[in-house]
Amino acid sequence: MGNTKGEPIVLCPVSGTKGKLVKTVTLRSLLKEEHQERITQGRYRFCDAQGCDVVYFAEDGSHVFTKADLKVRVGVKETDAPRPICYCFNHTVEEIFDEIQRTGTSTIPDEIARRLNTEGCDCARTNPQGSCCLGVVKEFVKEVLLPALFGSDLTGDSVVRQLTRWFVARVGGGRPAGRPC
Ligand SMILES: [Zn+2]
Repeated sequence: MGNTKGEPIVLCPVSGTKGKLVKTVTLRSLLKEEHQERITQGRYRFCDAQGCDVVYFAEDGSHVFTKADLKVRVGVKETDAPRPICYCFNHTVEEIFDEIQRTGTSTIPDEIARRLNTEGCDCARTNPQGSCCLGVVKEFVKEVLLPALFGSDLTGDSVVRQLTRWFVARVGGGRPAGRPC
């Protein structure tokens, strides 16, 4: 597959997005039963591009796994609800946004933090990116609360569009996959 030098392929073969390294345990946990046998000993990357169907691609370029191959929805790749943001404790972008619209704040980051302490979490097996969600959730809440602090109306399409862009930019990029809690 044009990889004779043995250099790992880090760009998604479909979207050209730089993939984040993800542990095989994440694939084992989240791929549907019928796709398990395609998992190899090689390393995998996670593609976070919205609109790209590829979720995982092999570094040797031999194969990919797409959204349909997973048991869960990949929040960062979706534009429609529900977009999961915390997989261990089942929170969505929409849920956090709704709570802030209703109450002016969100209790979810504290709830996640409390449950991390008491129950622990299992992000490597539940989050398609294989990494902890708490930091991302906290940033998301802060970002949603900012317009409220400055008196802007939180309803309306423009805010939703802004949040979607924010979500893609933050949750979809920059954070290394496979980082434990
Ligand atoms: Zn892609």
